[in-house]
Amino acid sequence: QTALSFVAVDKRFGSGTTALSGVELQVGAGEFVVVVGPSGCGKSTLLRLASGLDAPSAGEISTPGGDIGYVFQDATLLPWRSVLANVALPAELAGRPKAERHERAMDAIRLVGLDGFEEQLPGQLSGGMRMRVSLARALMMSPALFLFDEPFGALDEMTRLRMQEELQRIFTETGFAGLFITHSVTEAVFLANRVVVMSARPGRITAEFEVPFAHP
Ligand code: ADP
Ligand code: ADP
Repeated sequence: QTALSFVAVDKRFGSGTTALSGVELQVGAGEFVVVVGPSGCGKSTLLRLASGLDAPSAGEISTPGGDIGYVFQDATLLPWRSVLANVALPAELAGRPKAERHERAMDAIRLVGLDGFEEQLPGQLSGGMRMRVSLARALMMSPALFLFDEPFGALDEMTRLRMQEELQRIFTETGFAGLFITHSVTEAVFLANRVVVMSARPGRITAEFEVPFAHP
């Protein structure tokens, strides 16, 4: 089963920049794919197209599994809402009953290791913990595919390593599909089942390999 498919995708901007050229990419259910490449090679554009926030100039993109969850670098939490209320927000917007969204939010909070912090406000938390809240908020809706836009880029090295381990544990446990972009080869190899390498001008996929020692 396929969670995300790009077939012969091009993206040109009005300015004349060809951000993506001939991109072929499939993410299977339960697969964790990391896209790595230098700044300007089109990683963010690829993710925006996958999310449906922007449309390709040519080619086909499909997400047969349905819902997508996003985790971005700036955690975009509502500062006046508690951790629990932030995590429960998508279910609230979807009109789910209070008891149900509370229970699901608590499950997600436990999964990311934030038990005990439910009533804290985002401003009281460290960067790593805010990132976990953002991850819990995405996990909460059990989407078929997660899109990660360099989510750990702003974290210090130690927190980043810890978050990478946490993320790996969560995805091994849940079996969700993920598409993660980064400019760090180390991060890519650590996290991925499969690494996709891009190069710039024009942005295209130049190599792709399975990580032989990947977690199951
Ligand atoms: P990366 O995320 O790998 O750094 P981007 O996807 O942000 O790369 O950018 C790929 C190329 O597309 C770059 O040359 C960038 O300048 C260009 N680009 C990105 N977004 C736009 C836009 N909205 N308008 C014009 N050019 C853009
Ligand atoms: P993280 O690695 O999640 O960014 P830190 O390294 O900043 O967390 O903090 C280490 C530990 O200190 C956390 O795992 C947490 O147990 C505790 N901690 C951090 N911020 C708070 C807070 N606002 N209130 C209570 N405990 C906190």
